[in-house]
Amino acid sequence: MIHDPERTQGGAILLDGNRLRDATVASIAARIEAAGSPKVCLATVLVGSDGPSGVYVRMKHRKATEAGMVSRGIEMPDTATQSEVESAVAALVADPDVHGILVQLPLPSHLDPEPVLAMLPPEKDVDGLTDRSLGRLVRGLPGHVPCTPLGVMRLIEAYGIDTVGRRAVVVGRSTLVGLPQVLLLGRRGVDATVTLAHSRSVDLVAVCREADIIVAAAGQARMITADHVKPGATVIDVGVSRVESGIVGDVDFEAVQSIAGAITPMPGGTGPMTIACLLDNTVAAAAMQGVSL
Ligand code: NDP
Repeated sequence: MIHDPERTQGGAILLDGNRLRDATVASIAARIEAAGSPKVCLATVLVGSDGPSGVYVRMKHRKATEAGMVSRGIEMPDTATQSEVESAVAALVADPDVHGILVQLPLPSHLDPEPVLAMLPPEKDVDGLTDRSLGRLVRGLPGHVPCTPLGVMRLIEAYGIDTVGRRAVVVGRSTLVGLPQVLLLGRRGVDATVTLAHSRSVDLVAVCREADIIVAAAGQARMITADHVKPGATVIDVGVSRVESGIVGDVDFEAVQSIAGAITPMPGGTGPMTIACLLDNTVAAAAMQGVSL
């Protein structure tokens, strides 16, 4: 729990993902060391030379190493075939020294991600994106939860944002972010009343203005303006868009920070928490596979 939050110029609590990620990395490192430094291994599969994916994977390795884990990176060229990618994943699935596997998406367009994801057993699926992991989430069974929406929940918990009986609006309905986010916010114990908004939603401003918590995961640069936000609401930005001036989120930070009660910076909010949760899921994966931690 973070008791001394930084505030924005307008007075909103800054939901600092870098700070919480660093605390998570340090606590994982301490846990692994206290257990006698058993090997906990995260493997990633990166196909092709898509710029942002390479950056994300390198950052995941760097933080895994800082957390005291072993990380193994499989890199394949743009020309890799479906069966080459599937063989690489099969080798990792069969390797008892590998506890978590992350296939970096998107794969190049000539490859079908579905059969590749379907190969991952639930215990090694540290991204939580396979049918079985998502099914477990829906049914409330133990399993790995997708890292980005889980990271949002960790920010909400760590900064003491009240959720019980509160109204939450999630903008975006992908299986990667929006849908699992709705499930997590509506879970027993979290108990928010959740609305799922998408591109066909009518009067998004009015829908969002009802919310105590807004999670914006649409991938539309700065679409959430001060008009969308009820004074004092918590606004969490998941979106990443590349515009001429650089990378921006779904939230118009400058305008919204003066009206919100709490807000994520962009960058430095949900991105680092996605990595923190990947590492947490990998530790849980190792424990599920018999590593004493
Ligand atoms: P998708 O493109 O799969 O989904 C976007 C969703 O947003 C869709 O459900 C779409 O609605 C909805 N949407 C699009 N435009 C609007 C609009 N104008 N109003 C309301 N809803 C809209 O994206 P992802 O879920 O994969 O990713 C969302 C964003 O999050 C992206 O910017 C991505 O880069 C970022 N991201 C960030 C991560 C992080 O760590 N911070 C991790 C993963 C993703 P419809 O279904 O009707 O088309």
